[in-house]
Amino acid sequence: MSYYWGHNRRFNDFSNHIRKVFNGSKMQKISIHAGFTCPNRDGTKGVGGCTFCNNESFKPSYCQSDLNIAEQINRGIKFFERRYDSVKYIAYFQAYTNSYAPLETLIDLYESALSYDGVEGLIIGTRPDCLSDQLIDYLKDIQKRYYVAVELGVESTLDVTLERINRGHSFDESKQAINILAKNNIPVGVHMIMGLPGESFDDMLKHGEYISKLPVNYLKLHQLQYVKGSKLGNYYLENPQPDSLLNLDQYIDFVVTFLENLRPDIVMERFTSQAPHSLLIAPKWGIKNFEFVRILENRMEKKDTWQGKYYSPVSF
Ligand code: SF4
Repeated sequence: MSYYWGHNRRFNDFSNHIRKVFNGSKMQKISIHAGFTCPNRDGTKGVGGCTFCNNESFKPSYCQSDLNIAEQINRGIKFFERRYDSVKYIAYFQAYTNSYAPLETLIDLYESALSYDGVEGLIIGTRPDCLSDQLIDYLKDIQKRYYVAVELGVESTLDVTLERINRGHSFDESKQAINILAKNNIPVGVHMIMGLPGESFDDMLKHGEYISKLPVNYLKLHQLQYVKGSKLGNYYLENPQPDSLLNLDQYIDFVVTFLENLRPDIVMERFTSQAPHSLLIAPKWGIKNFEFVRILENRMEKKDTWQGKYYSPVSF
C-alpha cells in the first residue's frame, strides 16, 4: 500500500522526502558548530539559557567548534564517505542560534559552507525570534542556487511551558516566524520537545494539532533528556524522580497517537534524541533513533495505522 506521501512506510519520512527533492540522490546533513552564542544566554533575551539546554549534548562526535567550517565539513564528509557510496551534503548549522550575528558575518559563514565541493544545501537551526527581514531576503536569493531550509526551536505550543523552561519567546512568535518563512517559500522545520515539565500527554498531543494548523514542512520530536550541565539536569540530580520520566513504551504509544492525528504532508525527521552517554542523566533508554523507528513502525503495522489516519482539518 502506498500512502499519501507516495511510499509504503507508515509515516512521511525525511530520507525518502529529501531524496525526492534532490532527484533521487542520497543526501546527508553535516552538522556545523560555527561558534555562535544565543540571545537567551548573553542577556539580550535572557541569561542562563533554556533550562534543558547543554548544547554539547546536541552535536555529533565529528563536529568540533575549534575547527573552521571547511575543516568541519571535511571531517563530516570523511565520516559519511565510509558509510555511503554516493552522497551529497547539506550544511546543517546546528549548535546554538545560527542566525544570531550581523548579516555580513552570517553570509560569510553560510557561503563558506556552500562553497565546499559536494555541499548543495543549507539548513539553519535557530530561534523563532532571530530572523531578520534582511536574512530572509538573502535566503530567498540563494535559494535560486541551493536548497535552503530553516529549522526553528519551537519546543512547546504552551506559553506557560515556554516560561517555565526560560525559553524567552512565546508560541505566537513561533507562529509568526513559521508564517513569514512560508510566505517567502522557505521550507520550515520545527523542533519540539516532548515531556517538558508540567505537560500532560494531552498537552503533547495538542502540540501536534497546533503544528498541523501551521505551514510547517518538517518536524523533529525529541523526548526530554536530563543532561549534565543543564539546569534541569542539575535539578534532577538533586531531586531524582524516575516515576516522572517518560518510559520508552509510553513514548512509542504516544508517538503512534501523535502521528495518527498529524497532518500527512508534514515530513517527520526524528522522533528521539541521544545525548552522549557521558552527559545523559535520564531517561536512559539505550536506543538509537533508527532502532526506535523500527519499533515504532512495527507497532504501527500491528495496529494497522499511519500518519494522518485520524487527521481532520475541520476538527480544529
Ligand atoms: S536551546 Fe537554543 S535558545 Fe535555548 S539556551 Fe540553548 S542555544 Fe540558546
